[in-house]
Parts: sequence; C-alpha cells; structure tokens
Amino acid sequence: MPKNEIAFLVYRALKKRKKDTSFDASDNIGALVIVDRLKEGLGLIVDYCSPETAKDYKIVLVSMTSTYDCIAFYQAVALIPSWQSGKRKFHVVAGGFGMQNPTTVRNFVDYAIFGRGEDIINNLVDTLMGGGVYTHESVMNLPEISPVVFCAAKGKYKNSIKLGRGVDWVESVLGCPGKCKFCHYTWAREQVGVEVYFKNDMGKVAKRKSEIMWKDIRNLKEATSIILTAIDGCTEKLRFAYGKRIKNSEISDGINHVAEIAIKGTGLDVYNILNFPGEQERDIKELESEIKKATPQKPIALRLHSTPFRASLLTPMSHCHVDISPRAYNLRNKNICSQENLKAFHSVTNEGPYSQLIVHVIDRAAANSDKLFHTICFSKKIKNSPALKKIELLMKNFDLSPYLREYSLDEKHPAWFLSSYTSQEKISNIKISVNNSIAKFKKGLIDDIPEASYLKDALTMDECAKEVT
Ligand code: SF4
Repeated sequence: MPKNEIAFLVYRALKKRKKDTSFDASDNIGALVIVDRLKEGLGLIVDYCSPETAKDYKIVLVSMTSTYDCIAFYQAVALIPSWQSGKRKFHVVAGGFGMQNPTTVRNFVDYAIFGRGEDIINNLVDTLMGGGVYTHESVMNLPEISPVVFCAAKGKYKNSIKLGRGVDWVESVLGCPGKCKFCHYTWAREQVGVEVYFKNDMGKVAKRKSEIMWKDIRNLKEATSIILTAIDGCTEKLRFAYGKRIKNSEISDGINHVAEIAIKGTGLDVYNILNFPGEQERDIKELESEIKKATPQKPIALRLHSTPFRASLLTPMSHCHVDISPRAYNLRNKNICSQENLKAFHSVTNEGPYSQLIVHVIDRAAANSDKLFHTICFSKKIKNSPALKKIELLMKNFDLSPYLREYSLDEKHPAWFLSSYTSQEKISNIKISVNNSIAKFKKGLIDDIPEASYLKDALTMDECAKEVT
C-alpha cells in the first residue's frame, strides 16, 4: 500500500504528441498547481497512480486538459471493475479545461470542478478525508447533472511552479479583453489586471515563440522569435461579425512589419478558424490572396493553421450550427505562395471533421448520448476506419443532429447547467447579434454592403471589450 492517500491518475492521452507524456514533460501546469496547493495548504504529498492502482488511494485526482480527455479517461477506466459506481471505494475529483460537460464521464467522477480549482481543492480534499460530502457553486456532485458557475481566479497564482525541465512557471496573464464571440477562454475566465500576453510563463519555451494579437503586431519593436498569432476568420466580414476585428489591409501590413523588425527574417504561426456559420467555400481564397499581397523585406515563413469552428460552451456562439465539412483537413500541407521573401503554406496538422464531431458529441452530450459515446471510445470498427468513414458509420447508427444542429435561443441547450462571470442576459443579447449576422450571411446581405462601409464604426479591441462586458 502507498503511504500517501491521494494521487493524480496517469492515463494515456488520445493523441500522443511527445515520447514522454508524464505530467512534468507535458507541462501540465494546472495539475502541478493543485499539487502545490495541497502540499502548502494541507501538507499532503500527491502520488501518481494508474487506473489499476487507483483503488489503493482514498482520493484520485483527474486532470482533463482538453475535451478529448473525456474519451481518454473513459477508455482508461470504464471497463475496470474497481471504477464502477457502487463498487468504487475511492473518491474521484476531476477538473481542467476538458471539464465543461461532464455527462459522458459522470459515472466515473464524483466531484467535477469547473474553472480554477486552486481555491477549492484544499477544502474539498479536507472534507473528503474527514468523511464528509463537499458542496460548492463551482463543483458538480456527480452523477447528477446540476447547475454550476465557472470559478474565475481572483488573481494570478502566487507561487512559481517548477516544471520538469527545470523551468519555473510564473503566471502572467488572466483572461483576455478580446471578447471574440467564439472564444471560451474570454467568456469563462474573467480578466484580472491589464496584461494580455503570456510573458515568459514557460521560460525557455517563451523565448522560442512570442504570442501576440494580430492587431498589436504593428506595435512590436523587434521579432527575435517565432510569432504566434491568430486571424480567426477567412474574410473581413466574418472576422468583424464574430468579434475579431482585423481588416484585410492589416494582414499584409502585419507580415511586412514583422519582416521590418526581424533581424534575419522569422516565422509566423497564424491560427485561423474555418467553417464559421455563414462562411462560403470560396472565402479561404480571400485570406490566401490577402497573404499574397505582402511584400516583406526579409524572409518570412507563414504557417496557416486552420481549425474548424467549434460552438464552444459558455460563448455567444454555443448555440450555433456546426458544419463538419472537411475544408480545413483538405487544405493540409497545401502551398499558399512561394514568392520573394514569403513562403506561406497550410499547416499539416489542420484538424479533421471527425475530431470536430466528437468534441461536439462531448460538449453537447445528454444522458441519451451514452451509447454513442461508448461506441466512439471502444468500437474497433470505428477505430480502424479513416475519418470520413468513421462519421459515415456513426451517422448510420445514431442521430448526430443534437450535436451539430443550431439551438434556438428559447430552447434548452444540452449544456444548460453552465454559467460564468458573464451574465446570461449579456450572452443572450450577443447571441441575437450573432443570429442576425448569420441571417445576413445566408441572404447574401453582408456581401451587398458597399466595400468597407461596415468598417466605419469599427471598434478597437478595448472598445469592443467595453461594448460586450
Ligand atoms: S483575442 Fe479573442 S480568441 Fe484570442 S484569447 Fe482573446 S478573446 Fe480569445
């Protein structure tokens, strides 16, 4: 028997991106913060356990760093006798970014923490160690699905955390003023302080890449590392409709400016969103042609990484229709241009439609999703089929419409139980404006607006934040 009573569960990630997938090597900061809190507050040392050795502990902690972890966790524990509800002798406490809709894993978790857990964990663990039942507005006592408020941190985490590679992590940013209508981060996590970018949070890693909003590229004085940024929309009209107010002309200007301030030239990692509601298949051409207009004076390598639209929970776009056509996937590794000082290409890791679908199966899961979810996790036929075939097989056997369709504003969304620091009234008002934009895109009305006239009252990022908060 181990001498400690609490352990973090180590389970195999769905997609193995590194050889060493330990908490330290994968910089699982959220989990390491919880370990730090438990040591400082209760003097507890947290072990690591496997799904099989979990039964040797009193409390098992589960870190879910992405929505896909619901699948990875379920695959790891759902068939193990000691994890079955009724037979389970240990308490399971789970949290992290992947804890948004716990329906799919509700039979294998006892306490789900929503949002930041560092101010909750010690009371929770103390109560469980003492044999009590813990309740908190940001904790769901599963398997019952009940309302929860995402916990927003009151301030940056006070301690520095030693990562496995000898790098110290110090939190530098909380929240974002951007208020892009599709972004879970900004609606779930309240901004504290004025900082916008992660500064040296990751020590050496930060020196290789600096993260910046596209709009702020023009204020950069030097580019000594690869610049990580986002366009988030193929056309000016889509970007303005969904809150990322970047004009077409700013795209080539941004690329040219990066070249001006780079010593020898540099890389630009640009994130984009495809399949936005109202987007046309041809819209990607607009973005490609704006990139091609750049005339950098030093070599720039631009990697455009496109992710298909996600109707993220808690956002003003959570109710939207989800289009799973494989536009991003089909663009993988394609050249955009190879001209003097500018090589631009689509990322080889653009996400495919199957990944997009299963995220929504989890985000929009209800009790009647159990069979579908179990099939996704364990069907050998699904596992061994190519992505499009997987979707076809699921469509033949299940009704996928609840996971992809639009929800009207007066019906119950599958994730009805979530709320955050942003009032439901504000979110509802922005949802109405999102629906108006989508209706205009559908009727082609936005295309009818004379060029750039919709930009004349364009707001700055700060004004935009004030408008919606
Ligand atoms: S700029 Fe927009 S997408 Fe990026 S973190 Fe802020 S709100 Fe989210």
